[in-house]
This record gives sequence, C-alpha cells and structure tokens, in this order.
Amino acid sequence: MSKLHRPFHASVAALLWLASGLFFTQAQAQPIAWVDVHFHFIAESAGGAEQLANQGLELMNQERIRRLVVLPPPQSKTGALDGSQLVEVLKKHGDRFAVVAGGATLNPILHNYSKQTQVPEATLKEFREQALRIADSGVVGFGEIALHHLSLNIKHDYESVPADHPMLLVLADVAAERDLVMDLHFDPVLTLTPVPAELKEFNNPDIFQPNIEAFERLLQHNRKAKIVWAHAGGLDFIGQYTPMLVRDMLSRHSNLFLSIRPMARTPGVMVTPSGEVNPEWVQIVQEYSDRFVFGSDSFLVDPSAKSGSAARLFAERSKAQRMGIRRVLMALPRELARKVGFENAERLYRLK
Ligand SMILES: [Zn+2]
Repeated sequence: MSKLHRPFHASVAALLWLASGLFFTQAQAQPIAWVDVHFHFIAESAGGAEQLANQGLELMNQERIRRLVVLPPPQSKTGALDGSQLVEVLKKHGDRFAVVAGGATLNPILHNYSKQTQVPEATLKEFREQALRIADSGVVGFGEIALHHLSLNIKHDYESVPADHPMLLVLADVAAERDLVMDLHFDPVLTLTPVPAELKEFNNPDIFQPNIEAFERLLQHNRKAKIVWAHAGGLDFIGQYTPMLVRDMLSRHSNLFLSIRPMARTPGVMVTPSGEVNPEWVQIVQEYSDRFVFGSDSFLVDPSAKSGSAARLFAERSKAQRMGIRRVLMALPRELARKVGFENAERLYRLK
C-alpha cells in the first residue's frame, strides 16, 4: 500500500466506523417494546371491559407495550368480570391481550376457607373443577391470587391464607397439568412482625405471622407449576421482600419466577420516584435473567363498576409505575432488556 492511499483508506474506515456507530446508537435509542404481565381491568360487564380494552390498546401504542396480560385483582367477593367473560371480550383484539383469571372467582372461595386446614373432599373437587373450567376457557394462568395481601387503604381488604392450603395445592396441580402460570400476591414475613404505623388504621392485624416456609412448601409441591411471585422490587411495607430473600428463593426453587413492579417511596426499591435504579436488584435480574418479567400492576377502571373503589385509588399511580419499568429497561444491557422486557413473558405465559 502506497503512502498516498493510506490516508484515503484510513478516512473510509473512519467514516464506516462512524456510520456503524451512528447506526448502533440509533438502534440503541429505539426503546424496547415490553410485555406487561400484570394489568388489572375492573369491569362488571362486557361493555365496560370493551371500553377498557380500547383504552388499553391506546396505551400500548403510546408506551410501546407489545401485549397486556389482563387479570382481576384478588377479590374477596365475586362480581368483577373474570375468566371466560374477559377472554370473550379481549380475543376480538387478536394477540395484544391475554387473560389470567381466578382473582374474582377462585380467590373469594379460597379466602372463604382460609382458616380451615381441612377442606372436605367434595369442596376440593368442586374447586378443582372450577379451576379446570377456567383453564379450558383460553386463559394463560390463574391470578391474581392473594396468599398474603396487606390492606393499603380503608376500602381495601386484608387477605391471608397459608400458601400450602389444600386449595392452593390443588390449583398448583391444575396449573402444572395445563402448563399455566399462577400469579400470586405474597407479602413475605420471615419473623413475627408488628404492623407498620402507617397501616395501623386500615384492615390489618396488629402482628404479622411468619409465612415464608408455607410458600416454600407450595413451590416444592409441584415443580411443574410455574409460580410468578408478583410485585418484586417495589412497595414493601413489611420490608422483607428484599434482594437477599429473592436470590435465596430463586436459588432453591426452579419453578419460581418474579414479576417486577419497580417503583415506590419505601426503602430498598428497584426504582426511586426520582428514577434512580438500585444496582442490587439489577444484579439479581442479571444473575437469574430467565426468571424475571415486568408487571406494572396498572388499573383501568370502568366508571360504572361498583367494585372499583379501592382500584380507583391505585389507578392514579399506574402511569408512573410503567415509567419506572421503562427506567429499568433503559438501565439494563440491551440483550437482558429484551429477555426481561418480553422474551421471558412470551415464553412463560405462552403468548406466541
Ligand atoms: Zn397484587
């Protein structure tokens, strides 16, 4: 190569390098579209749910969300739209929506029997049959089921049931048989813990009993049951849903997955309201990159729904929570963001 050619080659190489750099930067800047696996519709009629579906589609387009997995919150009474009724409404919109069900049908039954460790055989059989009917209606999982759910406002129930309750073991077996997920709300308690001052005036007991060992028994009961522990990294008034606990549980339970709801004002969260991302949580997501998905716990409420009073209070915070998820996606390396953003969810919930 002559001296004359060298600068020419060098400048072409530099240009190519610059161009590839620009291209790469542009590709990087394109935000990843994600799947939200924990999105509540509060509706009591098909018409109400249809309106929420339209709102949901608009929101997905605005915020680059590929799909919403819609589910009823864990209700203590029946009445909200659930199961096949939701599936009927949402299937008109193709694959943008999937349904997880049982929160307004199975959850109220479970909590009716929460104090009984012995459940009559016939009742268990009936519960199993109802779960199978829901499974057959075209849902991708059971939820939201509350194992331990603190009361966060005066209109919001306190729910507690041992995680190894016979009905939950039955549900885990049905989930395993049909390859469905179980989406569980579980505020973990490791040792006897008094209720925090800010939650005293609501419907909580004065002291919370340890519940983690029963949760481990549920996980062990059927390893084919895919259990999604909701709300990792976020609001935790008891303060025991920590990165340390999550790492320990992931290391010992191959069928445990977590959906991330990252933002809150309480200490130790994944994303603070000012947008700082907690490296301790990111580290665990990196270590167990196949086991995390995002679930914003958003609420859309049909204005005519009677059961929507507590939900309306939560609905206001939904957008900020989804922005918190966007913040986490930006903080993760591209490949990891794709996995946690949508690949894991599409595999785990069989959304393809
Ligand atoms: Zn929940």
